[in-house]
Amino acid sequence: MIDTHVHLNDKRYSDTADEIVAGFAAAGLEAAIDIAYDRASAERALEQARRYAPVYCALGVHPHDGKDYTDADGDWFLRESRDPKVVAIGEIGLDYHYDLSPRPAQRDAFIRQLHVAEKAGLPVIIHLREAAGEMLDLLKAHKNLYRHGLVLHCFSETREYAREVLNLGAYISFAGPLTFKKAEKAAEVARYVPADRYLIETDCPYLTPEPHRGELNQPAYVRFVAERLAALRNVPFETVETEAAGNARVLFRKLGI
Ligand SMILES: [Zn+2]
Ligand SMILES: [Zn+2]
Repeated sequence: MIDTHVHLNDKRYSDTADEIVAGFAAAGLEAAIDIAYDRASAERALEQARRYAPVYCALGVHPHDGKDYTDADGDWFLRESRDPKVVAIGEIGLDYHYDLSPRPAQRDAFIRQLHVAEKAGLPVIIHLREAAGEMLDLLKAHKNLYRHGLVLHCFSETREYAREVLNLGAYISFAGPLTFKKAEKAAEVARYVPADRYLIETDCPYLTPEPHRGELNQPAYVRFVAERLAALRNVPFETVETEAAGNARVLFRKLGI
């Protein structure tokens, strides 16, 4: 399995990262993608990707910090994107739930980072919360800026919305919330998405799946997301394992595994 969205760069793992990565093989994990959310976490993610063979990274500024995004950050992401371990630009997007940055600043940082991804020739990892209509409009207006692929991570929209973004070429990534009891909307999408268009992730340290809800999340728990997907799609666990990893290799072309 490949956990396509982890925040191993989070300070909560500063004492345990070595141990977590050493446990990948035993947990059935081939690789994980360490996702940045601001400039400082991007520097940590890149450093971890260089240090640990099965760790890759994505560089970007999260919509929460959209107001702090500068062209100097974009230039740095573009320069470092030549590193073989940098496989995507992200996570970038819109979050109108928390509104931690003014909405125009979120939109501006998102579009400017789409340009970075286009110049870098890399796919984008999109964070979306409570801004579905606006995100769809932006994606429809800027098709030339994600020609190297895109994924909507921790997908939490409807099946109809999934159909719209699948039509734009997007991958859909499932995280811990799929394992929660009240996950009917996500379950419907999990049954609907084509076999060649989904990914799995933990988004650790957040969103710990059942049966570990309440504990600190970790990449090994991506297994529970895969198990739930297999049950919903009525296929063997091994099918989800193979399909999800194969899809990750297609989207993130630089994964060296
Ligand atoms: Zn996110
Ligand atoms: Zn994340």
